Amino acid sequence: MRYISTRGTAPVLTFEQAMLTGLARDGGLYVPETIPTLSRSEIAEMAGMTYEQIAFRVMKPFIGDTFTDAEFTGILARTYAGFGHVARAPLVQLGPNHFLLELFHGPTLAFKDFAMQLIGQMFQFALNRSGERVTIVGATSGDTGSAAIEAFRGLDAVDVFILYPHGRVSEVQRRQMTTPSEANVHALAVDGDFDDCQARVKDMFNDFEFRDGVRLAGVNSINWARVLAQVVYYFSSAVSLGSPLRPVSFTVPTGNFGDIFAGYIARKMGLPIEKLVVATNRNDILHRCLTTGAYKTEGVTPTISPSMDIQVSSNFERALFDAYGRDGSAVAQLMSELKTGGFTVSQGALEMLQDTFASGRSSEEDTKATIARIFAQTGEILCPHTATGVKVAEDIGTSAVPMITLATAHPAKFPDAVEAACGQRPPLPSRMADLYERAERVTRVGNDLSELETLIKERIAS
Ligand SMILES: *Cc1c(COP(=O)(O)O)cnc(C)c1O
Repeated sequence: MRYISTRGTAPVLTFEQAMLTGLARDGGLYVPETIPTLSRSEIAEMAGMTYEQIAFRVMKPFIGDTFTDAEFTGILARTYAGFGHVARAPLVQLGPNHFLLELFHGPTLAFKDFAMQLIGQMFQFALNRSGERVTIVGATSGDTGSAAIEAFRGLDAVDVFILYPHGRVSEVQRRQMTTPSEANVHALAVDGDFDDCQARVKDMFNDFEFRDGVRLAGVNSINWARVLAQVVYYFSSAVSLGSPLRPVSFTVPTGNFGDIFAGYIARKMGLPIEKLVVATNRNDILHRCLTTGAYKTEGVTPTISPSMDIQVSSNFERALFDAYGRDGSAVAQLMSELKTGGFTVSQGALEMLQDTFASGRSSEEDTKATIARIFAQTGEILCPHTATGVKVAEDIGTSAVPMITLATAHPAKFPDAVEAACGQRPPLPSRMADLYERAERVTRVGNDLSELETLIKERIAS
């Protein structure tokens, strides 16, 4: 399998190169040259398999011979061994034909662990084999950073630098990033918002001298290997509910469009998904775009679902690439218009997108009311991100097709917002109960490229 850039001019790479590189040199994102499909009988065979076995079947065609079958099986076993639930991604029922896919049983209590733990294991394997060392730099609105640090802490071939917006992540998220004591972990609190953090990371990747000098590697949701890891739970959950005989729909609390894009890949691979529903909070650029075609940036408003507080959804570029018939120059044109405030999706491309995606938004009041109501009706405590999904799924309404809403984080990651909404303070799972007592270590930095690059060079030299 070969990987090409959404802007059409970067070198074509192997899976391993695309994984270690992250952002393409033309500013685009890597996508597989073709999407492999699974037959109905291959999908049907997944019923009764373990999560790891399904992961193997789903991902193998994309990774080719990067790892032998035995190596890949070992990688998957190590990846999910630290999860707190044997099913890895269990389903619970919320209401008639409405199910919650719990993706928060990993070490940092958010769905990001599914991909990040896998990337940690794959990086370690590939770097040990080649004898190389890399510097991982990532931006986070909270959950990616903690998942990345958890996945890479203590690995000797990697330094990991995580930029997060100072004062805009929850205390649990911050502590998960600042309390690991390993010397290869560097938490950086940036004076800015998430889009600033993401923009500075992109700037570092576009500074080729710096990029090559420190051997920069990216693990943000633009990394293809992360998207790929997330394709697996669309299969495992749909098969549990009777796919391929029975089609399903998904509602996905969305920020950077990575998680829902994985659902799009599952659908292209042959999983019978009727609709993929994008749920946004009040930062609703994707909802506006999918309804009107206008992708216009408006600035970020902080909400109680901070991991969705973004205005530029990086992975949306991958969906646009397909909607524009895989025309890299058309995508490059849109992205240059974005620098000056936005673009309008062509009618044909919008129809392509609307064929797959529906969308809705949840206001702060809606989100709080949903947490309170679901707790009263079912006893389930939702995190605020998950609640946006549940609200939007309910607005779409029940049908004969089961709706699976992705529960993207554990409520204990956002205890203040949850308690304010439903009066319950969700406790941390016992394996991380001492998080509030551990010492923190963090560096405060300006929203400034050269300051950041200097700091990173100094740290990896020492
Ligand atoms: C990252 C995150 C999201 C958004 O996922 P994207 O892949 O960026 O769309 C939603 N909820 C939680 C809890 C997250 O951590």
